[in-house]
Amino acid sequence: MANLDDTLSRCGVKISFTEEKGRCFIATRNFCPGEIIISQEPYASVVNSQHGLRCDGCLKSTNLKKCSKCWMVWYCGISCQKSEWKVHQLECEALVKLSEDRRKMLTPTICLMIRLLLRRELQSKKVISTTADNNFQLVESLMAHISEIGEQKLVLYAQMANLVSLVLPSLELNLKEVAHDFSKLACNAHTICDSELRPIGTGLYPVISIINHSCLPNSVLVFEEKIAVVRAVSPIPEGTEVTISYIETAASTETRQKALKEQYLFTCKCPRCINQGKVEDIQETAILEGYRCKDMTCDGYLLTIPAEKANICQQCGLPRDQKEIEKLKNEVEKLSNKASVSLSSGNYYEASVLYKTLEQLQLKLFHCFSISLLRTRETLLKIFMELQDWRGALTCCRLTITVYERVYPPIHPLLGLQYYCCGKLEWLLGETTDAVISFTKAADILRITHGSSTPFVLELLAKLAEAHAEAAYKLRPDQCG
Ligand SMILES: [Zn+2]
Ligand SMILES: [Zn+2]
Ligand SMILES: [Zn+2]
Ligand SMILES: [Zn+2]
Repeated sequence: MANLDDTLSRCGVKISFTEEKGRCFIATRNFCPGEIIISQEPYASVVNSQHGLRCDGCLKSTNLKKCSKCWMVWYCGISCQKSEWKVHQLECEALVKLSEDRRKMLTPTICLMIRLLLRRELQSKKVISTTADNNFQLVESLMAHISEIGEQKLVLYAQMANLVSLVLPSLELNLKEVAHDFSKLACNAHTICDSELRPIGTGLYPVISIINHSCLPNSVLVFEEKIAVVRAVSPIPEGTEVTISYIETAASTETRQKALKEQYLFTCKCPRCINQGKVEDIQETAILEGYRCKDMTCDGYLLTIPAEKANICQQCGLPRDQKEIEKLKNEVEKLSNKASVSLSSGNYYEASVLYKTLEQLQLKLFHCFSISLLRTRETLLKIFMELQDWRGALTCCRLTITVYERVYPPIHPLLGLQYYCCGKLEWLLGETTDAVISFTKAADILRITHGSSTPFVLELLAKLAEAHAEAAYKLRPDQCG
């Protein structure tokens, strides 16, 4: 088996160790935006059928057929079934022996653990070959943060380990070890997303897991089928640490830190986080998650001045009554719950009315760059798409873009995808010149984050070329009629 250091050095990276962060990934050459730093097959992965059925081999969603024995996994064809067979053969035998009730207890995390353990078993018996970047030692070396996990979670992991041992009686598992492995999955497994960043499954990529988090990362993780691909999004000079983001970064420092602590059990000290408590950080928090000026013609945000015990607009100095804020906050919360219930029941028309009312109410409470308002508009965009209300969708899409442009760095996959969505809507509505502009902005970002020759980006470039041709045709002066 080749050595991991050699494999990584061919990519232009090395693993280094610091007291504070543990292992980190360091570039050993310069990387340009768009360049692949590393890509990896999962050690183990599962489809999350909650997000729709997918082929277990390639994650495609078309031409699916169930495994005729266990009826629990799907394949798009014989070649994918074959590629997954060595692990699935054992899994399948175990699954068919389970009662209906036990099968229902198999969450995606438990299924992932079952595959992980079966793969370990098959690799130790040399039925499946090991490679430098795909072996169980790498899984073993992942952080479990076991000392920081609460009692409740430990009990849960023990129960899950117990269930796994019931599913795989032939493996003679050490329950404590399996429980530890669950805590490794919790902080190291990645959500596999499609090109539009919609979640479709979960995978463990032990080398990719070494890459640390930053709220202002220089790289991005995307997936091509099951393969995790890390691309540079800004120039990375030799000797710099490669970072990706583990969380949604459109949030205040406090919210980001909380999310990282809860799920990944560490305190982020990235360039954005070290500003916590400084003037700009307090202002940004107030804009993203605080309240607006009570004068609707002023676009100021409020800061609480402790000495005066008042919320003061930072633009015009007008105070806003705390009781009035609380009352409005309550109304927003109630309406938000009602709207979300309506949406999950699939009543899109009713949901659209409720979310539009919610948007209007939130506008009275929050700043126009508020994250809560942004989430409402993102939901409204999805609802309008379902209702095929393209005009409504386009309006929402444009409003979200103004916030994305503020909260995300210029090269961010979500910003690129939102420009793409905007372009498609504009094109559909005959606003071809605008569509060309939006497609161009989308292409400038997505060719860096998603790679310029992936099917997803090639399709975008084809749309851009077509919209270009259409716009030029429309502009021809000798056209009549
Ligand atoms: Zn397939
Ligand atoms: Zn099966
Ligand atoms: Zn940070
Ligand atoms: Zn004001």
